[in-house]
Amino acid sequence: MKVFLPGPTAVHLDVLAAMARPQIGHRTPEMHALMRRIAPGLKRLFGTAGYVFTGTCSATGALEAALRNVVPGRLLNLECGAWGRRFGDVAAANGIAVDRVLSPWGEANRPEALAAALGRARYDAVAVVWCESSTGVLNPLAEIAAVVKEHEDLLLLVDGVSALGAVPVSVDQLGIDVLVAGVQKALAVPPGLALFSVSAAALRRAETVQCRGFYLDFLRQRASADQDETPSTPSTAHLFALDAALQRVAAEGMPARAARHEEMAALCHRWARRRCALFCDERISSPTITCVTAPRGSDVAAFLARVRDKGFLVGRGYGELKASTFRVGHMGEHRPADIEELIDVMDSCL
Ligand SMILES: *Cc1c(COP(=O)(O)O)cnc(C)c1O
Repeated sequence: MKVFLPGPTAVHLDVLAAMARPQIGHRTPEMHALMRRIAPGLKRLFGTAGYVFTGTCSATGALEAALRNVVPGRLLNLECGAWGRRFGDVAAANGIAVDRVLSPWGEANRPEALAAALGRARYDAVAVVWCESSTGVLNPLAEIAAVVKEHEDLLLLVDGVSALGAVPVSVDQLGIDVLVAGVQKALAVPPGLALFSVSAAALRRAETVQCRGFYLDFLRQRASADQDETPSTPSTAHLFALDAALQRVAAEGMPARAARHEEMAALCHRWARRRCALFCDERISSPTITCVTAPRGSDVAAFLARVRDKGFLVGRGYGELKASTFRVGHMGEHRPADIEELIDVMDSCL
């Protein structure tokens, strides 16, 4: 089966092979060497001179940790789809007071709406999803970060799960305090590892927060990272896989990687405009996920089943959009030729 989901996505054999290496102890020189190999690649990927931590959990674990570590009181949550809503739900589940700024699904979050909301109340942090995977919208991160930076003591938390590895970023330049990613999307590693950069300001904030949780406590993470270790037993298999994946990113180079994702998105957009419709405006759509509006009256589930019968797995629409849209994930190891092959199959099944 060829996987074109909004995640998880196809994994290269070199990365899979790295996971099959003999076991190492996680308090040994082999582990220290592995962590020292990974660290520079992660810093380059996130665009930071600061810390990038790993957690053995899916990305949601690190989203929750970000909220627990730096938001003792009140969060302003930007939402333009299901994942934005969910980030706010995670905060609420942790006893955080959440105010929500809503954009219609299919549109991006607007910096002006953020600025207006920040004028009405004081917050510990702003949260936003970079690529809103339910609609395929890529939010204007630089513009949003610029608004947040106008306010003192206000931190910016970003869910970058479905964008990091395909869209270049520098968290230091933009002033992003916590950027969370998984590995099963544009980094093309099997699911099970979370990555998160934590700024100096976020660490200072964490020092003032009483109940940061334990498993992904930023201060314990920092103490362990300083020893080239992790606080508890990590999935070393995933760390080996991440090492291999980061080598693949470095070999290709981020500019070429970004261009490849743009090219795949453009192929999908052209096909969608011809045969169906794009759910969101092309100018704000993510290079990793295309949300396609199916022709009126068509049976989306039956279409996806026909595509699946031909050996291609494409994502259903999310939540409210399940009956009317489907989502093509084009990221990680996919190449434009793979997208052309997929388009031929979808064409024949429509
Ligand atoms: C996939 C995804 C997640 C969920 O990540 P898990 O690894 O399943 O916890 C969160 N946010 C966005 C935007 C995603 O696309």
